[in-house]
Amino acid sequence: MSRPPFIAVIGAGPTGLGAAWRMEELGHTDWGLFEAQDEAGGLSRSFVDDAGFTWDIGGHVLFSHYRWFDALMDAALGDAWVEHVREAWVWMRERWIPYPFQNNIWRLPPDDLVACLDGLVDLATADRSSPMRTFDDWLMRQFGTGLCDVFMRPYNFKVWAYPPEKLDVGWMGERVATVDLKRILANVVHERDEVGWGPNSTFRFPLRGGTGAIWKSVAGQLPRERQHYGRTVTAVDLEARRLVFEDGETVDYDALISSMPLDCLLALIRGRDDLAARAGEFVHSSSHIVGVGLDGAPPEDLTTKCWMYFPESSSPFYRVTVFSNYSPNNVGRPGEQWSLMAEVSESPEKPVDRERVAKDVVEAFRRIGFMRPDEQPVSVWYRRMERGYPTPWLGRDEVLGPVQAELERYDVFSRGRFGTWKYEVSNQDHSVMQGVEAVGRILQGTEEFTFSGRMEDWLEPTFGSAG
Ligand SMILES: Cc1cc2nc3c(=O)[nH]c(=O)nc-3n(C[C@H](O)[C@H](O)[C@H](O)COP(=O)(O)OP(=O)(O)OC[C@H]3O[C@@H](n4cnc5c(N)ncnc54)[C@H](O)[C@@H]3O)c2cc1C
Repeated sequence: MSRPPFIAVIGAGPTGLGAAWRMEELGHTDWGLFEAQDEAGGLSRSFVDDAGFTWDIGGHVLFSHYRWFDALMDAALGDAWVEHVREAWVWMRERWIPYPFQNNIWRLPPDDLVACLDGLVDLATADRSSPMRTFDDWLMRQFGTGLCDVFMRPYNFKVWAYPPEKLDVGWMGERVATVDLKRILANVVHERDEVGWGPNSTFRFPLRGGTGAIWKSVAGQLPRERQHYGRTVTAVDLEARRLVFEDGETVDYDALISSMPLDCLLALIRGRDDLAARAGEFVHSSSHIVGVGLDGAPPEDLTTKCWMYFPESSSPFYRVTVFSNYSPNNVGRPGEQWSLMAEVSESPEKPVDRERVAKDVVEAFRRIGFMRPDEQPVSVWYRRMERGYPTPWLGRDEVLGPVQAELERYDVFSRGRFGTWKYEVSNQDHSVMQGVEAVGRILQGTEEFTFSGRMEDWLEPTFGSAG
């Protein structure tokens, strides 16, 4: 090809913006980004409600496995960040248990504690050679029956909205959980907490504007004329390499990086009923996010907590973030208010009443003691995302592999959280790097590490101050 290839990008979330930034960094200006919404950010957007509270789509914690991503974050917000020590807890049996749960089971009531220890002792002599097929197999192999029954199974059902025996094990890779029976026993005897928030467990959060501020800034630093908002792709012609939009307009491309959900992309492909038919095989769960804004200050036991896990079925949420702890500016009147944000999962196996869910969350907050029994919230913000978690369903990789290979034959690279449908590489840093690495593959023929699940920190940033 004599002219540079025109690369079309679908979606202005972290994946699409990462791809766009990398193209500019490489001096490749032949690209166009098309986003259905009016602004950038995708699932990493933030919202300000009528009472002035800022909300993410679930508490977004910024992890990073890459220097390039760190440099992008520096370029986005400079030093307008708040640094945090990651402090996570489990609330169950009407008590707090520090995370990681397995190291702190001494805090459990005696019957639960004995069940957990029983299972761990059995594990020590168990046969570990049998093949694992499901996520439940993996949990049982790592934690034993007691820990699984008391925490791992109920908690994972609440997060995924599918029971662990209906999830695949392949996405866990070679991961091994840190279960050290001798240490656990010593902690039990000494009634000693072992917390995961050491010196390396820090994260940063935008000082203003929530997580979405990052992506607004990234988009704002990219050439405006190459970004097209309010543009929904409604069809893709693989043979002609053409995108079709709602108004019938078309854009031709040489290569396409798509970060829209892969099942939706397949359904848009013209003349390939075989690919469209595969869309029905993909499994996802939905996310309900309920933000509750309150006057005054948080109760004493919430003042330093970042987020809390809730394995019991008595509360609707699997996780709650003390969102006002992330930045004082996440509330309407800093210093005078505080906020909580709950995440509730939904699937056909775990239905949620959309009319009731916000009310149920507030009632559970009162029951647990986060709010006084008679306290009224200043604000309740609610949003449901049809696609929240890309479920690692049984047999996932046997579907993803051939589908992606077929798309790549036409220079279509489906990347990002729902573009690859790989939960294990679906946080913001992974998504950005999937976009970046897809550009490398198209323009330079380099390998895509993150997409293949290796997460290698191979790329030196040539911009910003990585520190
Ligand atoms: C409840 C929840 C909690 C999370 N917590 C964290 C966390 O703590 N830390 C973290 O790093 N990440 C977290 N994430 C993940 C984070 O949101 C994603 O990593 C990130 O947003 C994925 O980026 P993406 O660009 O791949 O996809 P998206 O953000 O989904 O962006 C895709 C974009 O494509 C656009 N699009 C879709 N269809 C079309 C079309 N037909 N035409 C044009 N445009 C289209 C969409 O409008 C969207 O803007 C969380 C996600 C959820 C749901």
